[in-house]
Amino acid sequence: MIKKISPNPLKLIKYYNFINHNLIYNNKAINRYKKDNFEISAGKADNLESLKKSISNIKNCSLKNEATNMVFSDGNPKSKIMLLGEAPGTNEDQEGLPFVGRAGTLLDKMLVSINLDRKNVYISNIINYRPPENRRPTDEEIKRYLPFVKKHIEIIAPKILVLLGSTAMKALIGNDAVISKVRGQWIEKKFGQSKTSVIVTFHPAFLMRQPTQKKLAWVDLKMIRDRKTRLKI
Ligand code: URA
Repeated sequence: MIKKISPNPLKLIKYYNFINHNLIYNNKAINRYKKDNFEISAGKADNLESLKKSISNIKNCSLKNEATNMVFSDGNPKSKIMLLGEAPGTNEDQEGLPFVGRAGTLLDKMLVSINLDRKNVYISNIINYRPPENRRPTDEEIKRYLPFVKKHIEIIAPKILVLLGSTAMKALIGNDAVISKVRGQWIEKKFGQSKTSVIVTFHPAFLMRQPTQKKLAWVDLKMIRDRKTRLKI
């Protein structure tokens, strides 16, 4: 005798959820460029990968030779907000990710204060390898990495670019720039085909040493928040 099966709808729903039927029956094309859970176009993924390769192929760089890991980026490559720091420190060198040490904790808090987090911005540095003893990168080192930084900005094509601290400012605005004069204003710049609004603010490591300057950093953060709202990003 054949047993009549009357499916229990609740059980069926649970079963479909269990087997993740959306995944099975979804007939959308599979995006093969889903990196770290962010879907990006094939072109952008290729460009980022080849930039990474070019950096890892740098010759005769003592920073690279002494570092544990290359620190390329963190965050969402689709974001319209990009942040650039100076260079990796000890924690970043160990983990291969930017701003994961104490300065990173403060940076995260700064982002949260304007309703952002690492998943909706893109973070990198001027230099991709840790300078020994966490010293400042030399002018020569900055010059060597600058073409890669510019390419990086061009690929990400942010609408807002936040330069954290004087190393990032001097590298991209000019050696004569003084942070106390340049911070807190928008500077329009073009990287490749893409136009971006640049703002300089204090580096979180500096703010940890000089907490009284946080009130100025807050002014800058509010400017970023307001522009982000205005640009609907
Ligand atoms: N300081 C930086 O400038 N970058 C980092 O990634 C960490 C600390």
